[in-house]
Amino acid sequence: STLTPRRPADRSKVYMADLESALHYALRVEVARFSVLTGERVRALKDFVTVLAKYFPGRPFVQNFLRSVDRWLRNMRESRIPYSALERVLTNRKEGQAPEVLSNNMTWVGCQGSKPHFRGYPCSLWTLFHLLTVQATRYRRLGTGPLEVLGAMRGYVWSFFGCRECAQHFEGMAAESMDKVRSVDKAVLWLWSRHNRVNARLAGTETEDPEFPKLQWPPPDLCPLCHGVVNRRHVWDEAAVLRFLKAHFSPANIILDYTE
Ligand code: FAD
Repeated sequence: STLTPRRPADRSKVYMADLESALHYALRVEVARFSVLTGERVRALKDFVTVLAKYFPGRPFVQNFLRSVDRWLRNMRESRIPYSALERVLTNRKEGQAPEVLSNNMTWVGCQGSKPHFRGYPCSLWTLFHLLTVQATRYRRLGTGPLEVLGAMRGYVWSFFGCRECAQHFEGMAAESMDKVRSVDKAVLWLWSRHNRVNARLAGTETEDPEFPKLQWPPPDLCPLCHGVVNRRHVWDEAAVLRFLKAHFSPANIILDYTE
Protein backbone atom coordinates (compact mmCIF):
# COMPACT_ATOMS: atom_id res chain seq x y z
CA SER A 1 0.00 0.00 0.00
CA THR A 2 1.22 3.49 -0.76
CA LEU A 3 -0.01 4.52 2.69
CA THR A 4 2.74 2.54 4.34
CA PRO A 5 6.06 4.31 4.04
CA ARG A 6 8.91 2.03 3.11
CA ARG A 7 11.39 2.24 5.89
CA PRO A 8 15.03 1.57 5.32
CA ALA A 9 15.99 -1.46 7.37
CA ASP A 10 19.36 -3.01 8.00
CA ARG A 11 19.19 -6.81 7.71
CA SER A 12 21.95 -7.17 10.24
CA LYS A 13 19.84 -5.49 12.95
CA VAL A 14 16.76 -6.30 15.01
CA TYR A 15 14.18 -3.55 15.45
CA MET A 16 12.30 -2.89 18.67
CA ALA A 17 9.36 -1.57 16.63
CA ASP A 18 8.87 -5.07 15.15
CA LEU A 19 9.12 -6.72 18.56
CA GLU A 20 6.66 -4.35 20.23
CA SER A 21 4.31 -4.71 17.27
CA ALA A 22 4.51 -8.49 17.72
CA LEU A 23 3.53 -8.12 21.38
CA HIS A 24 0.66 -5.87 20.46
CA TYR A 25 -0.61 -8.16 17.71
CA ALA A 26 -0.22 -11.32 19.78
CA LEU A 27 -1.96 -10.04 22.90
CA ARG A 28 -4.48 -7.61 21.47
CA VAL A 29 -5.43 -9.26 18.20
CA GLU A 30 -4.68 -12.98 18.21
CA VAL A 31 -5.57 -13.73 21.82
CA ALA A 32 -8.56 -11.37 21.52
CA ARG A 33 -10.15 -13.68 18.96
CA PHE A 34 -11.29 -15.84 21.88
CA SER A 35 -13.94 -14.13 23.96
CA VAL A 36 -13.31 -16.64 26.75
CA LEU A 37 -10.02 -18.44 27.27
CA THR A 38 -10.17 -21.91 28.79
CA GLY A 39 -7.99 -24.94 29.50
CA GLU A 40 -5.04 -25.30 27.15
CA ARG A 41 -5.33 -21.69 25.98
CA VAL A 42 -5.11 -20.33 29.52
CA ARG A 43 -1.97 -22.38 30.11
CA ALA A 44 -0.48 -21.32 26.77
CA LEU A 45 -1.13 -17.66 27.48
CA LYS A 46 0.36 -17.89 30.98
CA ASP A 47 3.50 -19.62 29.72
CA PHE A 48 3.92 -17.11 26.90
CA VAL A 49 3.53 -14.08 29.16
CA THR A 50 5.84 -15.63 31.76
CA VAL A 51 8.70 -15.99 29.26
CA LEU A 52 8.04 -12.46 28.02
CA ALA A 53 8.13 -11.11 31.58
CA LYS A 54 11.38 -12.96 32.28
CA TYR A 55 13.29 -12.45 29.06
CA PHE A 56 11.88 -9.69 26.87
CA PRO A 57 14.59 -7.01 26.76
CA GLY A 58 12.07 -4.21 26.49
CA ARG A 59 12.08 -0.59 27.36
CA PRO A 60 11.47 -0.22 31.12
CA PHE A 61 7.78 0.64 30.84
CA VAL A 62 7.21 -2.33 28.54
CA GLN A 63 8.98 -4.63 31.01
CA ASN A 64 6.87 -3.26 33.85
CA PHE A 65 3.78 -3.83 31.78
CA LEU A 66 4.70 -7.44 30.95
CA ARG A 67 5.48 -8.16 34.62
CA SER A 68 2.16 -6.75 35.73
CA VAL A 69 0.25 -8.83 33.16
CA ASP A 70 2.24 -11.89 34.26
CA ARG A 71 1.42 -11.26 37.95
CA TRP A 72 -2.24 -10.83 37.13
CA LEU A 73 -2.36 -14.06 35.12
CA ARG A 74 -0.54 -16.01 37.82
CA ASN A 75 -3.04 -14.84 40.42
CA MET A 76 -5.91 -15.91 38.21
CA ARG A 77 -7.07 -19.15 39.75
CA GLU A 78 -10.13 -19.51 37.56
CA SER A 79 -9.82 -21.93 34.68
CA ARG A 80 -11.64 -19.56 32.38
CA ILE A 81 -10.60 -16.01 31.62
CA PRO A 82 -12.91 -13.70 29.70
CA TYR A 83 -10.86 -11.66 27.25
CA SER A 84 -12.62 -8.53 28.54
CA ALA A 85 -10.92 -9.05 31.94
CA LEU A 86 -7.53 -9.49 30.30
CA GLU A 87 -8.16 -6.46 28.12
CA ARG A 88 -8.67 -4.29 31.21
CA VAL A 89 -5.24 -5.37 32.45
CA LEU A 90 -3.66 -4.84 29.02
CA THR A 91 -4.98 -1.29 28.80
CA ASN A 92 -4.55 -0.45 32.46
CA ARG A 93 -3.05 3.01 32.68
CA LYS A 94 -1.31 3.98 35.84
CA GLU A 95 -0.58 7.59 36.65
CA GLY A 96 2.71 8.76 35.29
CA GLN A 97 2.86 5.84 32.89
CA ALA A 98 2.97 6.15 29.15
CA PRO A 99 -0.62 6.57 27.98
CA GLU A 100 -0.79 3.37 25.99
CA VAL A 101 1.80 0.83 26.96
CA LEU A 102 1.68 -1.06 23.73
CA SER A 103 1.06 1.24 20.86
CA ASN A 104 -2.13 0.54 19.00
CA ASN A 105 -0.67 0.69 15.56
CA MET A 106 1.82 -1.71 14.23
CA THR A 107 5.03 -0.49 12.76
CA TRP A 108 7.06 -2.93 10.73
CA VAL A 109 10.66 -2.02 10.08
CA GLY A 110 12.89 -5.08 9.76
CA CYS A 111 9.65 -6.97 8.98
CA GLN A 112 8.26 -4.46 6.48
CA GLY A 113 7.19 -6.24 3.30
CA SER A 114 7.09 -4.87 -0.22
CA LYS A 115 3.29 -5.32 -0.09
CA PRO A 116 1.02 -5.24 2.98
CA HIS A 117 0.23 -8.98 2.84
CA PHE A 118 3.90 -9.94 2.99
CA ARG A 119 6.00 -10.37 6.17
CA GLY A 120 4.75 -8.29 9.11
CA TYR A 121 3.44 -10.28 12.05
CA PRO A 122 4.74 -13.80 11.21
CA CYS A 123 8.20 -12.31 10.63
CA SER A 124 8.07 -10.48 13.95
CA LEU A 125 6.90 -13.59 15.79
CA TRP A 126 9.90 -15.59 14.57
CA THR A 127 12.17 -12.69 15.52
CA LEU A 128 10.61 -12.47 18.98
CA PHE A 129 11.06 -16.18 19.71
CA HIS A 130 14.64 -16.33 18.42
CA LEU A 131 15.39 -13.40 20.70
CA LEU A 132 13.72 -15.11 23.68
CA THR A 133 15.66 -18.36 23.16
CA VAL A 134 18.89 -16.33 23.15
CA GLN A 135 17.89 -14.29 26.21
CA ALA A 136 17.22 -17.55 28.07
CA THR A 137 20.90 -18.49 27.58
CA ARG A 138 21.96 -15.20 29.16
CA TYR A 139 19.69 -15.57 32.20
CA ARG A 140 19.99 -19.29 32.88
CA ARG A 141 19.39 -18.83 36.59
CA LEU A 142 15.88 -17.51 35.87
CA GLY A 143 15.04 -20.45 33.65
CA THR A 144 13.27 -23.74 34.22
CA GLY A 145 15.15 -25.66 31.53
CA PRO A 146 15.77 -25.91 27.79
CA LEU A 147 12.11 -26.32 26.87
CA GLU A 148 10.86 -23.25 28.70
CA VAL A 149 10.91 -20.83 25.75
CA LEU A 150 10.38 -23.46 23.04
CA GLY A 151 7.42 -24.88 24.94
CA ALA A 152 5.92 -21.41 25.32
CA MET A 153 6.28 -20.85 21.59
CA ARG A 154 4.77 -24.23 20.82
CA GLY A 155 1.80 -23.51 23.07
CA TYR A 156 1.29 -20.00 21.74
CA VAL A 157 1.44 -21.10 18.11
CA TRP A 158 -0.85 -24.06 18.69
CA SER A 159 -3.43 -22.12 20.72
CA PHE A 160 -3.42 -18.72 19.06
CA PHE A 161 -1.41 -18.32 15.86
CA GLY A 162 -3.94 -17.25 13.23
CA CYS A 163 -2.28 -19.17 10.40
CA ARG A 164 -3.62 -22.63 11.26
CA GLU A 165 -1.69 -24.35 8.49
CA CYS A 166 1.52 -22.85 9.96
CA ALA A 167 0.49 -24.04 13.42
CA GLN A 168 -0.04 -27.59 12.12
CA HIS A 169 3.37 -27.61 10.46
CA PHE A 170 5.11 -26.19 13.49
CA GLU A 171 3.38 -28.63 15.84
CA GLY A 172 4.53 -31.47 13.57
CA MET A 173 8.17 -30.38 13.89
CA ALA A 174 7.80 -29.84 17.64
CA ALA A 175 6.25 -33.24 18.21
CA GLU A 176 9.03 -34.85 16.22
CA SER A 177 12.06 -33.49 18.06
CA MET A 178 11.52 -30.62 20.47
CA ASP A 179 11.53 -32.87 23.52
CA LYS A 180 15.05 -34.04 22.67
CA VAL A 181 16.51 -30.57 23.21
CA ARG A 182 18.81 -30.84 26.23
CA SER A 183 20.28 -27.39 26.80
CA VAL A 184 19.37 -23.73 26.35
CA ASP A 185 22.07 -23.44 23.67
CA LYS A 186 20.54 -26.37 21.79
CA ALA A 187 17.16 -24.67 22.08
CA VAL A 188 18.56 -21.66 20.17
CA LEU A 189 19.88 -24.00 17.48
CA TRP A 190 16.70 -26.08 17.34
CA LEU A 191 14.60 -23.03 16.54
CA TRP A 192 17.16 -21.77 14.01
CA SER A 193 17.25 -25.09 12.15
CA ARG A 194 13.47 -25.51 12.16
CA HIS A 195 13.02 -21.98 10.86
CA ASN A 196 15.43 -22.83 8.03
CA ARG A 197 13.32 -25.88 7.22
CA VAL A 198 10.29 -23.63 6.94
CA ASN A 199 12.30 -21.23 4.74
CA ALA A 200 13.28 -24.11 2.45
CA ARG A 201 9.70 -25.34 2.20
CA LEU A 202 8.35 -21.87 1.40
CA ALA A 203 11.06 -20.74 -1.04
CA GLY A 204 9.51 -19.91 -4.38
CA THR A 205 5.89 -20.17 -3.17
CA GLU A 206 3.40 -17.32 -3.27
CA THR A 207 4.02 -16.45 0.41
CA GLU A 208 7.54 -15.34 -0.50
CA ASP A 209 8.01 -11.60 -0.77
CA PRO A 210 10.00 -11.25 -4.04
CA GLU A 211 12.07 -8.53 -2.40
CA PHE A 212 12.91 -10.82 0.54
CA PRO A 213 13.65 -14.25 -0.90
CA LYS A 214 13.58 -17.20 1.52
CA LEU A 215 17.18 -18.01 2.29
CA GLN A 216 18.97 -20.52 4.38
CA TRP A 217 19.82 -18.05 7.08
CA PRO A 218 22.21 -16.44 7.99
CA PRO A 219 23.53 -16.04 4.43
CA PRO A 220 27.30 -15.89 3.94
CA ASP A 221 27.40 -12.10 3.76
CA LEU A 222 25.89 -11.88 7.26
CA CYS A 223 27.97 -14.69 8.72
CA PRO A 224 30.86 -15.97 6.59
CA LEU A 225 32.13 -18.19 9.40
CA CYS A 226 28.79 -20.01 9.67
CA HIS A 227 29.35 -21.69 6.30
CA GLY A 228 31.76 -24.42 5.38
CA VAL A 229 32.28 -27.00 2.68
CA VAL A 230 33.02 -30.67 3.35
CA ASN A 231 33.35 -33.06 0.44
CA ARG A 232 32.04 -30.32 -1.83
CA ARG A 233 28.87 -30.05 0.21
CA HIS A 234 27.68 -27.14 2.21
CA VAL A 235 27.86 -27.62 5.96
CA TRP A 236 26.92 -25.30 8.80
CA ASP A 237 29.48 -24.63 11.49
CA GLU A 238 27.03 -24.85 14.37
CA ALA A 239 29.38 -23.34 16.91
CA ALA A 240 29.76 -20.30 14.64
CA VAL A 241 26.01 -20.21 14.04
CA LEU A 242 25.36 -20.22 17.78
CA ARG A 243 27.83 -17.36 18.30
CA PHE A 244 26.20 -15.46 15.46
CA LEU A 245 22.66 -15.99 16.77
CA LYS A 246 23.67 -14.89 20.26
CA ALA A 247 25.14 -11.67 18.85
CA HIS A 248 22.38 -11.00 16.31
CA PHE A 249 19.52 -11.55 18.76
CA SER A 250 21.15 -9.65 21.60
CA PRO A 251 19.82 -6.48 23.23
CA ALA A 252 22.89 -4.64 21.93
CA ASN A 253 21.79 -5.37 18.35
CA ILE A 254 18.26 -4.01 18.81
CA ILE A 255 17.59 -0.64 17.20
CA LEU A 256 15.14 1.55 19.10
CA ASP A 257 14.35 3.92 16.20
CA TYR A 258 10.78 4.03 15.01
CA THR A 259 9.29 3.20 18.39
CA GLU A 260 6.95 5.96 19.49
P1 FAD B 1 10.69 -14.94 8.19
O1 FAD B 1 10.87 -16.36 7.78
O2 FAD B 1 9.43 -14.56 8.85
O3 FAD B 1 11.92 -14.55 9.11
C1 FAD B 1 11.96 -13.34 9.84
C2 FAD B 1 13.39 -12.90 10.01
O4 FAD B 1 14.08 -13.85 10.82
C3 FAD B 1 14.19 -12.87 8.72
O5 FAD B 1 14.04 -11.62 8.09
C4 FAD B 1 15.60 -13.09 9.20
O6 FAD B 1 16.15 -11.88 9.70
C5 FAD B 1 15.42 -14.02 10.37
N1 FAD B 1 15.60 -15.43 10.04
C6 FAD B 1 15.31 -16.07 8.89
N2 FAD B 1 15.60 -17.38 9.00
C7 FAD B 1 16.09 -17.56 10.25
C8 FAD B 1 16.57 -18.68 10.96
N3 FAD B 1 16.64 -19.90 10.40
N4 FAD B 1 16.99 -18.52 12.22
C9 FAD B 1 16.95 -17.29 12.81
N5 FAD B 1 16.50 -16.20 12.18
C10 FAD B 1 16.08 -16.32 10.93
N6 FAD B 1 4.06 -19.57 6.21
C11 FAD B 1 3.52 -20.45 5.33
O7 FAD B 1 3.17 -20.04 4.22
N7 FAD B 1 3.41 -21.78 5.64
C12 FAD B 1 3.78 -22.27 6.85
O8 FAD B 1 3.64 -23.46 7.12
C13 FAD B 1 4.31 -21.36 7.81
N8 FAD B 1 4.65 -21.78 9.06
C14 FAD B 1 5.05 -20.86 9.99
C15 FAD B 1 5.29 -21.27 11.31
C16 FAD B 1 5.63 -20.36 12.29
C17 FAD B 1 5.86 -20.82 13.70
C18 FAD B 1 5.75 -18.97 11.96
C19 FAD B 1 6.10 -17.96 13.01
C20 FAD B 1 5.53 -18.57 10.65
C21 FAD B 1 5.17 -19.49 9.66
N9 FAD B 1 4.91 -19.10 8.36
C22 FAD B 1 4.44 -20.00 7.44
C23 FAD B 1 5.24 -17.73 7.92
C24 FAD B 1 6.64 -17.69 7.28
O9 FAD B 1 7.54 -18.54 7.99
C25 FAD B 1 7.25 -16.29 7.30
O10 FAD B 1 7.21 -15.78 8.61
C26 FAD B 1 6.56 -15.31 6.38
O11 FAD B 1 6.45 -15.86 5.09
C27 FAD B 1 7.38 -13.99 6.30
O12 FAD B 1 8.67 -14.28 5.83
P2 FAD B 1 9.89 -13.32 5.96
O13 FAD B 1 10.56 -13.22 4.64
O14 FAD B 1 9.49 -12.03 6.57
O15 FAD B 1 10.95 -14.03 6.93
